[in-house]
Amino acid sequence: MTNRVRHFDVIIVGAGPAGTSCALALKDSNLNILLVYKESFPRDKICGDAIGGRSIKSLDKFAPELIEELRSFGKKEFISTTRFFIDNQKPFNLYWKNESYCIKRFDFDALLLKYAIKNVRTLTFKANFKIDYVVKECDKILVGNKSANTYYSANIVVAADGSQSFLAKQLIDLQLDPFNYSAGVRAYYSNIDGTLPNQTEVHIYRNNMPGYLWIFPLGNNTTNVGFGMLSSEISKRKINLRKSLTQIISQNPQLKERFHSAKIEGDVKGFGLALGSRKVKLYGNNFLLIGDAASLIDPKSGDGISNAIESGLISASTIINAHKIKDFSKESLKQYKTDLYKKIGSELLISTIIFRIATYLPFLIRIVPSLMRNKWIRELASRV
Ligand SMILES: Cc1cc2nc3c(=O)[nH]c(=O)nc-3n(C[C@H](O)[C@H](O)[C@H](O)COP(=O)(O)OP(=O)(O)OC[C@H]3O[C@@H](n4cnc5c(N)ncnc54)[C@H](O)[C@@H]3O)c2cc1C
Repeated sequence: MTNRVRHFDVIIVGAGPAGTSCALALKDSNLNILLVYKESFPRDKICGDAIGGRSIKSLDKFAPELIEELRSFGKKEFISTTRFFIDNQKPFNLYWKNESYCIKRFDFDALLLKYAIKNVRTLTFKANFKIDYVVKECDKILVGNKSANTYYSANIVVAADGSQSFLAKQLIDLQLDPFNYSAGVRAYYSNIDGTLPNQTEVHIYRNNMPGYLWIFPLGNNTTNVGFGMLSSEISKRKINLRKSLTQIISQNPQLKERFHSAKIEGDVKGFGLALGSRKVKLYGNNFLLIGDAASLIDPKSGDGISNAIESGLISASTIINAHKIKDFSKESLKQYKTDLYKKIGSELLISTIIFRIATYLPFLIRIVPSLMRNKWIRELASRV
């Protein structure tokens, strides 16, 4: 290590929704922040592109102008309904109470980042810089890229580097657990018949549980179509997700008909989802884990953006407080875990129970359409 090491108050690794939200919420803190990102922006991110109501609501509190910008952004679809198709039974709808959108992550993440760079005065953004070196020192953490021979240190390092987090492996020795990890593939299609404006679709088949196929409209005759499943089941049943996606579409009579004139735009691409059905260590001396790096994806739905944003925003108040009292120890940073679970803990627990039932008792999925005829259950399920 030959270069001089520049010191920051906070280094955030990863500029997805978690890292960028954390930077945004540090706007008035006056802290010196470095946000590093391994690629250049804007970039594609493999996702279903559904931005749930809680994401919009939380961001609206911190950055109302950003949400205004999103509302007037052309290439997106406002979502009010999800139509569920379960094992070829009569479909049912859930109507969402909060403002939700489908928008390509290429656009959403870029809007978020552009807003943070413009509004967080003390933020330095460094793209095309992949962190491959992390060392804990007594009162700080050092991160860097070995081949660039460039290193930075910080009082607090925030791991926001996603589902295959390098930092989580180094800092808390987090290993991938196939019982709490899913894989998903997605493709963009045009010309699918029968997609309705403002409506996403979820198709669940008992043979493919725990998992589902989604059809999410993005406006302008473009649709995000994908299929995801629990990793342990994928290995047990030797499933090829890319093949399964096209097989489900070609074998289901209704879908086959609807995809008759559809055209795939680009490749079918896949990535992993670190599910919040297991609790991982969220903090330690001089570091915090947020978003997918902290395994916070809702296990029943695969919605990870909401908890990524929530954890980013909540982590910022712990970071600000730790700097006020000049204490970056794990005892001081524990507040993040307390605040985060207060906000999302009970919902994650309920989702985990539903997800475990779907894993071990998949036949119960058949009773869901009947349950949804009950107004109270339907109301409960449509809360977000
Ligand atoms: C197929 C699929 C479909 C999904 N569909 C949905 C959906 O419809 N709705 C939803 O809410 N969620 C969905 N999710 C989950 C959602 O994508 C994630 O929960 C969300 O992106 C988490 O945000 P994040 O900021 O924690 O991580 P990310 O968005 O993954 O951002 C982390 C960033 O850090 C960068 N990075 C990684 N390593 C390094 C490094 N060493 N150095 C520097 N930078 C690094 C990465 O390039 C990455 O872009 C889906 C996930 C998958 C895989």
